[in-house]
Amino acid sequence: MQELTRVELMPRDVGGHQPRSIEGTETPRTLDEVRALVRRAMTTRRRLYPISTGRNWGMGSAMPVTDDNVVVDLSGMNRIRSLDLEAGYAVIEPGVTQAQLAAVLRDTPWMLNVTNSCADTSVVGNALDRGDGTFRSRVHDVAGLEAVLADGSVVTTGGLDPAGRYHGRVAGPDLTPAFVQHNLGIVTAMAVALVPRPQTVGFVHGRIPRHQVGLALDAIAGFLRRGNPADGMLRVREMALVPSHGDWLLPAGMDPGLFTIMGPLLGTDAAVELAEELLRKALVEVEGAEALRVVNAAEVLPGDPLYARALMAQGIPTCLGVRNALRVASCDQIDQGPTGFLALMPLMPTNARKTEQILAALQAAVEAHTTALLVEWNLVSKHLANGVIQIFFERGVPDAAHRAHQLRNDGNCLLRSHGCAIYRSDIDHAAADVWSETSTASLGMLHRLKTALDPDGMLSPGRYGA
Ligand SMILES: Cc1cc2nc3c(=O)[nH]c(=O)nc-3n(C[C@H](O)[C@H](O)[C@H](O)COP(=O)(O)OP(=O)(O)OC[C@H]3O[C@@H](n4cnc5c(N)ncnc54)[C@H](O)[C@@H]3O)c2cc1C
Repeated sequence: MQELTRVELMPRDVGGHQPRSIEGTETPRTLDEVRALVRRAMTTRRRLYPISTGRNWGMGSAMPVTDDNVVVDLSGMNRIRSLDLEAGYAVIEPGVTQAQLAAVLRDTPWMLNVTNSCADTSVVGNALDRGDGTFRSRVHDVAGLEAVLADGSVVTTGGLDPAGRYHGRVAGPDLTPAFVQHNLGIVTAMAVALVPRPQTVGFVHGRIPRHQVGLALDAIAGFLRRGNPADGMLRVREMALVPSHGDWLLPAGMDPGLFTIMGPLLGTDAAVELAEELLRKALVEVEGAEALRVVNAAEVLPGDPLYARALMAQGIPTCLGVRNALRVASCDQIDQGPTGFLALMPLMPTNARKTEQILAALQAAVEAHTTALLVEWNLVSKHLANGVIQIFFERGVPDAAHRAHQLRNDGNCLLRSHGCAIYRSDIDHAAADVWSETSTASLGMLHRLKTALDPDGMLSPGRYGA
């Protein structure tokens, strides 16, 4: 085993969060090395903070929640343990990147539910933070887990067997979700449900006047609730709120007068055609929706503004979007690049009246902190949307990071006052976000669960409240 690097480091972070000091880093590459590390850390009473690829941009990047942890970087633990091309499952380790898994799935009947983030992000790390993919929320991809607990024991959940094969959910309670947005163990493998590769991938795209956003959300929710004959997830995005003055920043090409409807429709030719027809009918009252296009994703060429989106709609990850948004040539530069980035993630209603109220409140906060933001609704279910509010700032401007953090803090409070709970949080707010949405009795249960498995609180202290 490697010796601990006993230097105090201040990790870099695109979000400009208050730096945490760390005790060092460890880079285990196998399950046995993780177990040995955990056992040693428990005897020397060192707190461990596992990350997969540490690209949790906007939420704290690779930084732990509390000071003086040993960061356990699992990016070198990157084996695809098994691939079941009959039932559509992959069992992968934390260091397996989107690019790595998607490459193995090329020309198979299955695709990966890729995110918009960099191709070298971890499938496991993203799912453990409840990220959103192109086709659905990543939580729906998590079929089972293998984890090392604080006593060094190895457990599996959800039907994943100790030999790293997945057979489907088995009898008995399934504790898989208890490891998502929690800190019960170090996850060393995940069974990931893949997405069937369809005959056709239609890609919906339209730019619509800003004042139609509430109506459009209502209409798309209605389309989903009545039954979308194709699979895939629609998004309403690129809704820019900008202050009337100040030196705010947004990615190039954003027009505050417009927003975008986009997303894939997956299925047979007939299903995609019918879905398009029903979507158009649902949007008939929305001004500007007649210009909506549905293109065949496989026919979108490099150079087309939709190219990156079309790739992701075919299960191919790409860094093009991230690099453009954050003005870097390589994703390795993001944590020290020119653009700062923060994310705020509330559950959002799709009702037109509530949407306008929420946007008016956010606009007031944007004005107060002279900082712009982009609002996105990921229509992950027939009930509520996963909101993604992106805040960009110039890292070179002295008070820009402060204003961006103030905007995220105020945005958090005002969204909650409008009934929008936070579904994914960051290293500064995770504890408060859990406490504010959880009853005392339920917090007590989470505490008992944590102390039963990790009595001294040595694993990921502070992550999502525990
Ligand atoms: C422009 C842009 C676009 C983005 N688009 C998306 C998007 O479409 N969807 C999306 O979800 N996100 C998106 N992100 C946010 C982020 O980059 C991704 O969520 C990314 O996948 C998270 O980083 P990671 O995969 O390296 O996970 P990590 O940073 O490794 O993991 C996240 C957290 O999970 C915990 N964790 C990780 N691994 C383990 C483990 N093995 N055991 C126990 N705990 C663990 C840790 O607390 C860690 O901090 C975007 C960011 C930017 C800047």
